Amino acid sequence: MENPLTPEVLADPVALTRALVDIESVSRNEKAIADCVEEVLRKVPHLSTHRHGNTVMARTELGRGQRVVLAGHLDTVPLNNNFPSTMRGDLMYGCGTSDMKSGVAYALHLAVTLPDPRYDVTYFFYEAEEIESKYNGLFLVAEAYPQWLTADFALLLEPTYGIVEAGCQGTMRAVVATTGVRAHSARSWHGVNAIHGAGELLRRLETYQARRVVIDGCEYREGMNAVRIAGGVAGNVVPDLCEIEVNYRFAPDRTPADAEAHLREVFAGYELRVTDSAAGAAPGLDAAPAKEFLAAVGAAPIGKLGWTDVARFAAMGVPALNFGPGDPNLAHHPDEHVEISKIRDGAATLHRWLAPA
Ligand SMILES: [Zn+2]
Repeated sequence: MENPLTPEVLADPVALTRALVDIESVSRNEKAIADCVEEVLRKVPHLSTHRHGNTVMARTELGRGQRVVLAGHLDTVPLNNNFPSTMRGDLMYGCGTSDMKSGVAYALHLAVTLPDPRYDVTYFFYEAEEIESKYNGLFLVAEAYPQWLTADFALLLEPTYGIVEAGCQGTMRAVVATTGVRAHSARSWHGVNAIHGAGELLRRLETYQARRVVIDGCEYREGMNAVRIAGGVAGNVVPDLCEIEVNYRFAPDRTPADAEAHLREVFAGYELRVTDSAAGAAPGLDAAPAKEFLAAVGAAPIGKLGWTDVARFAAMGVPALNFGPGDPNLAHHPDEHVEISKIRDGAATLHRWLAPA
């Protein structure tokens, strides 16, 4: 394949977004796009470029006092009759336009066109963000080459519709169970119905008052929801087990241990097991590059509600923010698109921030 990422395309974040969208890269199929990105970066004299799996890292080594990371994932969710891209007026449609090849285009455009950024910059183009964490390129790099992630500040170019979204909420899944005693439903008084017992659990969820927490001016709105329920043995048996899977999204002032303690308090008296959790990340607005970035954007940040890879950086002590042109509500949507004017505005903001003073 001829590399579609030509110098003309790399010079224009809009053309570059489109070219990246038109290289299919559903999770676990990122080799072709990673090859194209790596080939481009290896030719850039002011970058040193490395690859691990289908994750490409390129960085400047200018001896600046601070280092920032710009990161974007190369993969997309499965196609949904939205490949290749199409244009309708100011809108570019296609899988990955919003989440997040428009963000990847920022990083690649800056990597190639900005030889003298005001900070040293590490650019990450990573694989497998949309699937299980064990495949995630940043996770794999953190295991193999943690020093690649060293920085004073990280910017994840995930879709935020041009607003700075700070930190992220944590997430925990737990299974809460009610138990009973099996019996023939024709003589049900010999048994105890575990599904009926679940009513009390569901009422606790229904009346649960979720917290709204403000940290450094950013509001994080929590949520606790039943996301699955299972129970029942047969059409003529009083069931002895009912399990409710609960997903708790918690503000970053709580650790996963705090979140678990809170779940145990809400469901006191019931069996509960945590099946999965990920810590949140505090807003991360205090690092000097973060402050300068917020000044370049010129608008106040808001709290990030979904979990993102900013938490991976936060866990390594690197404050991180989310900023990208796509509308997060359109991510994973068959009508996924991005506004051309938003791409241009965000590119100008990043250039203002990173260009030499
Ligand atoms: Zn994404």
